[in-house]
Amino acid sequence: MTSFAELKLAEPIQKALAEEGYTTPTPIQAGAIPYLLEGRDLLGLAQTGTGKTAAFALPILNHIFTNRRPAPPKGVRALVLAPTRELASQIGESFAAYARHMKFSYAVVFGGVGQGRQIEATRRGVDVLVAAPGRLLDLIGQKHIDLSTLEILVLDEADRMLDMGFVRDIQRIMALLPKQRQTLLFSATMPPSISDLAHSLLKNPATVQVTPESSTVDRINQAVMFVDSGSKKDAALMLLESPSVARAVVFTLMKHEANKVAEFLNKNGIRAEAIHGNKSQGARERAMAGFRSGAIKALVATDIAARGIDVDEVSHVFNYDLPNVPESYVHRIGRTARAGREGCAVSLCDAEQRAWLKDIEKKIGKPIPVVTDHPFHSEEARLSTQRPPVLGGGRGGGGGGRRRSGPPSGGRPGGSRGGAPGRGGPRPGAR
Ligand code: AMP
Repeated sequence: MTSFAELKLAEPIQKALAEEGYTTPTPIQAGAIPYLLEGRDLLGLAQTGTGKTAAFALPILNHIFTNRRPAPPKGVRALVLAPTRELASQIGESFAAYARHMKFSYAVVFGGVGQGRQIEATRRGVDVLVAAPGRLLDLIGQKHIDLSTLEILVLDEADRMLDMGFVRDIQRIMALLPKQRQTLLFSATMPPSISDLAHSLLKNPATVQVTPESSTVDRINQAVMFVDSGSKKDAALMLLESPSVARAVVFTLMKHEANKVAEFLNKNGIRAEAIHGNKSQGARERAMAGFRSGAIKALVATDIAARGIDVDEVSHVFNYDLPNVPESYVHRIGRTARAGREGCAVSLCDAEQRAWLKDIEKKIGKPIPVVTDHPFHSEEARLSTQRPPVLGGGRGGGGGGRRRSGPPSGGRPGGSRGGAPGRGGPRPGAR
């Protein structure tokens, strides 16, 4: 497959893609779109950054364009379920961009904000609804949304939705959908819970797998600097002052650390914002908008808050703290080198986090090059055999931690169920 023209998408969609500067379909698009245009169910194994949004959005828009009929009042023709409000908003924006030359209606619904506008946006029915599961169930419960005429369902980042405890919400939503429909499930990973879900939801699905993790990781220039914990702020500042840094995501383990680092950077002339679960929706949106526009150079984020960061031109990822879960390292550095670009990831490793570095190197199957030629190098950190700090047991759980009493970013990431407290219960350890 060499061009979008060969995918036989409708002319207004092709025109929008050309304007977006897309010339060649990405592997997930080339693999998935032909099946989806045939109406097949699909299991797509792909993570963010592979072009998976367009892989489902384009065939959905093609279906809407070629089967023109109005959605009934409160009805939805295609539903995309996404784990966080940030992701939901971005998917909505992608649809709007690709549909700019055709008649098309859509709405995005998520918790944490008032319902009024979302009710108004869906009142007459929409072609596409992008939704976080909790708020969607709320609106269905109040009879503001009706899924009985749904034609296409997409579960995006299904593994994250399950991680975040949405399984029961998803099951409740499934029970409301017509049996006759096209179903797409996208997931970055394929644990048994996802294959079970896929098995129960998909009929004779085509499977398309892209393996961006290793190829993305290979495109990223990685380095580690051994430093004392007391020098981390200055080391981070030095890194961020480099002219090659256009946009950077700085990862900390804890929310209060994210705040402190952002404050320190701002005081020293680097525009930075912290984003984490304690920030209001407005503050997060302002931070993301500033980051996109380039007004903010550094987003300082905890792992869970960073899930919603979907910005292509992240030139650098800095691990202010190493993650205690090796998979998080791969997710974190995958914030850079998006859409085929190059990227850099530099980790600051102190004596306590030395053992985590070993785990990460095991996970990625190679050592991360060490840079010693800088003013903060610490041999003590490099040679450390300290046992790593216990951080409250994997996914939060509270207590136990040497330096914290809860999960790294607390509560529900992005608060996408903010409008539905009390249903399903929070994740273990979430407050
Ligand atoms: P996604 O994996 O859906 O988050 O997409 C990652 C980024 O790649 C998005 O910002 C898209 O705008 C961009 N993108 C998707 N498809 C293409 C394409 N065929 N050519 C160029 N950029 C693309």
